[in-house]
Amino acid sequence: MDTLIRQADGGVISSGQNCMKDSLTGLDKYEIFLEKLERRIENIGDDRITIVYTDIKHFKYINDTYGYQVGDALLREFMEEMTRDNEGMIGCSRVYSDNFVAANVMPEGVTNEQFKEFIHRLNLEWQAKFREKYLNSRLQFCTGISIIDKNSRSLDAETAVSNANLARKVAKEMEEDCCVLFDHSMMEGIRREVEITSRVPKAIANHEFQVYYQPKIETETMRLIGAEALVRWQKPDGTFIYPDQFIPLIERSGQVVDVDYYVYREVFRFIADRIAEGKKIVPVSLNVSRIHLNKMHILEYVKELFEEYQIPSDMIEFELTESIYLDNTEKALSLVKGLHNLGTKVSMDDFGSGYSSLNLLSRLPIDIIKLDRVFLREDTLQDSDKIIISCVIDMARRLRIISLCEGVETPEQSDYLREIGCQIQQGYYFSKPIPEEEFALFIDQKSEKV
Ligand code: C2E
Ligand code: CA
Ligand code: CA
Repeated sequence: MDTLIRQADGGVISSGQNCMKDSLTGLDKYEIFLEKLERRIENIGDDRITIVYTDIKHFKYINDTYGYQVGDALLREFMEEMTRDNEGMIGCSRVYSDNFVAANVMPEGVTNEQFKEFIHRLNLEWQAKFREKYLNSRLQFCTGISIIDKNSRSLDAETAVSNANLARKVAKEMEEDCCVLFDHSMMEGIRREVEITSRVPKAIANHEFQVYYQPKIETETMRLIGAEALVRWQKPDGTFIYPDQFIPLIERSGQVVDVDYYVYREVFRFIADRIAEGKKIVPVSLNVSRIHLNKMHILEYVKELFEEYQIPSDMIEFELTESIYLDNTEKALSLVKGLHNLGTKVSMDDFGSGYSSLNLLSRLPIDIIKLDRVFLREDTLQDSDKIIISCVIDMARRLRIISLCEGVETPEQSDYLREIGCQIQQGYYFSKPIPEEEFALFIDQKSEKV
């Protein structure tokens, strides 16, 4: 490597071709790295080339806690680790921020799996070393690897790096495995994501999204006292796509906001129609994606819906999933307050599905706590689950928060919830989510007793 010269800003440049080098790390600029890789791929012969793409998870913590100079120093240290005693190295570069890529010639006789294991062990070693130095940092090295051999030499350098980067994204989502080998099925996931997200605008225009309603039952009276609106996507061929298959994808693309607004409008329209026809209505709860927190148009939009449809504000409630409150407590708090100002109730959805923070419950002005169905995973309740459910319900009562249990499937579960004083129940035992017309009949017939 060229000699490194320290700059006034703490960065380093190489003594010679400084315009070709990254000023912070002294590594080749990304374009130069790609050129070198491209040339090596052209002359691959019988060699195999490994592309190792690494991202430092929780790096932001270092900048936020220790300052940028320490962050920069860490990146340089990492660069030194990556380039130390690296015999078959073709090149190494910082793609941007804390993302690094290295290309090497694979040593003979090493299998792809063995190479992955080697990198995995290296990551764990570096991780331990850096965590010891930067206490409490939770730093993690996430790596994706793609391998080129003579059969795939038609691949250009950029595609090879982007394959490794795709594997890195998969690694980043995993809790345990910080190192993943690229395989073509990952492209299938991307293809499906593109296919789904590109169809959403047309699907909204064509009314392919439908709102299903799942009844909520008051334990004391066994009467219908509300419903949750759940979206369904019915494609023109009649088949359904369920929310779990598309909501996470359209959250990434941000389109979930439009789909949520579509659902909200449909529910407002339904309630307004029933009022106009002089029919009975019940409050309906609407799911709020975490993505709304970044935009906060939601309050404006809901306000406009209330003005347009003139329905009572206590006929609408909002469900914010537990993790939203944990991810960004301040923003979540201001959203809850904004929704309260519009006169609607707010619940904490999926309580108990993740790392619930009990003290969050007392800090947040929420009205309803929805216990996740994980507590009811067995038909016959386990003693340990019983203890947890009854404690949470007792705590909710003391905090004057309404308790609701979802996923109730059996009469035994329902009886137990009555015994411990859970106020509202929802689940297949009473009804699956049903289309609007069916739910209208349900309200007409069953608002007395189910
Ligand atoms: P969620 O909000 O926790 O909704 C409850 C899910 O549990 C629903 O699945 C419902 O059909 C299912 N469920 C209800 N009772 C039972 C039961 O007794 N047993 C079992 N096994 N399952 C039961 P669904 O409709 O597939 O929705 C899945 C998730 O998708 C929802 O979880 C919610 O997070 C999201 N989602 C659904 N509709 C919307 C929407 O309009 N907007 C947003 N942002 N997310 C939505
Ligand atoms: Ca929900
Ligand atoms: Ca839920």
